Amino acid sequence: MNNTKPLRIGILNGDDIGHEIVPASVDISRAAAELHGVAIDWQPLPIGRTALDTHGHTLPPGTLEALRTLDGWILGPIGHRAYPRLPEAINPHPILRKSFNLFANVRPTRSYAGIGCLQDNVDLVIVRENNEGFQPDRNMFMGSGEFRPTDEVTLSVRVITRTGSRRVARAAFELARQRRNHLTYVHKDTVFKLGCGMFVEECLKLAPEYPDVLVDDVIVDTMAMRLVRDPQSFDVVVTTNMFGDILSDLAAGLVGGLGMAPGLCIGDGDVAMAQATHGSAPDIAGKGIANPYAMMESTRMMFDWLGHSRANAGAVRMAASMARAITEAVGDARARTGDIRGQGNTHSMTQAVLRGLRA
Ligand code: ATP
Ligand code: MG
Repeated sequence: MNNTKPLRIGILNGDDIGHEIVPASVDISRAAAELHGVAIDWQPLPIGRTALDTHGHTLPPGTLEALRTLDGWILGPIGHRAYPRLPEAINPHPILRKSFNLFANVRPTRSYAGIGCLQDNVDLVIVRENNEGFQPDRNMFMGSGEFRPTDEVTLSVRVITRTGSRRVARAAFELARQRRNHLTYVHKDTVFKLGCGMFVEECLKLAPEYPDVLVDDVIVDTMAMRLVRDPQSFDVVVTTNMFGDILSDLAAGLVGGLGMAPGLCIGDGDVAMAQATHGSAPDIAGKGIANPYAMMESTRMMFDWLGHSRANAGAVRMAASMARAITEAVGDARARTGDIRGQGNTHSMTQAVLRGLRA
């Protein structure tokens, strides 16, 4: 494995705390890249509220065009709920996911000692289908997924396809193979016999291709209970869009909250988007106290993924160094942020990671 072609990586701050945690993630990436001689061509791109002010659109056409030339990008949280009601102030998420076919949202949950986790020894990954399910967003290419035929009745449509189910299930099987060879698919086919039924069928069809992976299933409501009581019994969990969204926040709650919830959006093997699970946290924006862990760890996952997919050994080593340094910083009570029982802030936690990288 030796590929020295520079990685082209976008920097999209997003909104609110994005302007704090994305630069922190870039800083530690630059340091790790330097350490391992990884060439990175960084491209800052406008998105979100600041892009609306400077370019007249929350997702300027130039940004979308530039993304097409990149290997991956760091996307800060988007606070679209606070956007003005204007056609040019759209939520960029659905367009990004659909344009780049980012159908799998990989959301790991890991416990660390001393930070107030409700459960210890948690190490699981929820793989959430990212492009189907309930589609209430008007920006979706399929249009709005909600209808109100009369004032008394609303229909919310949930889209499940065989292709969509199969590809996210495959991504989860592959991930299980790299981890502890255990895959749990989560559904509610007792009620949604057709929708969840199709998802289940596609998971089961793939199982024979992965005889080395132990496969089991849990009904989604039972899963909510079991994640609280025995999260240690899970390795990789795959599920449909909304179930995955809810369960991954639950899982984050077990291990210190949203600041500890990273994510990577991947698709057909072409690009990766680092995106923390949490929102833009306007309540703490500008105070310098946001926990950068989720964004940093998402970024680390992206470099690891790119390292493997681009045969870039340096990027794989870079990601490994970042993992070590981030873990050390989380263990440093003086450096880490208040939400995880620390006395520090975004800056001190970032400095701790940088120290760890230099050590
Ligand atoms: P969204 O609709 O975008 O998911 P949300 O309503 O879930 O947004 P968040 O912005 O994720 O809200 O914030 C929820 C709570 O978690 C807030 O109190 C916020 O301050 C806190 N929070 C989120 N991310 C972080 C972080 N990185 N560090 C510290 N606290 C955070
Ligand atoms: Mg949320």
